Amino acid sequence: MPELPEVEITARLLDAALAGAEIESALTPGINALKTFDPPLSALAGGRVEAVRRRGKHLIVDASGELSLLIHLMSAGRLQLYDGRASARDRTSRLLVRLGDGRELRLREFGSRQAAWVKLLATAAIEHDDAIADLGPEAWPDPPPLGELLDAPRPLHALLRDQHVIAGIGRSWVDEILWRARLSPYKRGADLDAAELERLREEIVATLGGAIAHYERSLSLPIPDKLPMPLVVHRHEGEQCPRCAGTLRAVHFEDYIIAYCPACQTEGRVLKDRRLSRLLR
Ligand SMILES: [Zn+2]
Repeated sequence: MPELPEVEITARLLDAALAGAEIESALTPGINALKTFDPPLSALAGGRVEAVRRRGKHLIVDASGELSLLIHLMSAGRLQLYDGRASARDRTSRLLVRLGDGRELRLREFGSRQAAWVKLLATAAIEHDDAIADLGPEAWPDPPPLGELLDAPRPLHALLRDQHVIAGIGRSWVDEILWRARLSPYKRGADLDAAELERLREEIVATLGGAIAHYERSLSLPIPDKLPMPLVVHRHEGEQCPRCAGTLRAVHFEDYIIAYCPACQTEGRVLKDRRLSRLLR
């Protein structure tokens, strides 16, 4: 699940490796992930990659001719650079950008759900695209004070994952951030006091920044299919809390899990696990 730290390290590594590379051709094999038709993908041919950058959880590949690819990896996509061409039998590729030196940039997607998408836009149109224009401020490196952003009667776990509220945080890192800030995932945004708001802001920056630093130390191209996410709470339910040695718990939903420490975050209360209560009904 690529979130801000995973997309940021992807952009950094690809930017260093690709800036200036000549584009021979671009194509979308198999399932068409391209959501735009004008300009056509062929407009990229003969140009150069100028930069790879990030906005929220989106990747942006800027090319010469004032063109940019806007890419969303969704839950199972990766943007990866290879030394050679993809095999015709490769069913995971959604977009291939073939470079003049023989390398190939591939948007690949794993699993059965095909959701990753690409748009080719004029560079100046990126910030006005629906996917970008409505994003909240970046969660890292310097989000604004959270008081106004989170002033809503919605649980923190939902608010922080809402890209319109603050951009970059998803299901994995929200658990780490709330655990570090010692806040209940169900506490309502509007109920946070000034000290809690400040603590939460600090932990958002520190958690995401720490993950990026971890990836800077441990990753190089090619970016692996499965990133070594330095999570201590998310996906660790049933294990010991690294802070208080209590047991980490989880609430299961249809397509995500909230992990937390009752002792550190909910005054010892164990939140109702809907999956369990459904089974018991
Ligand atoms: Zn704890």
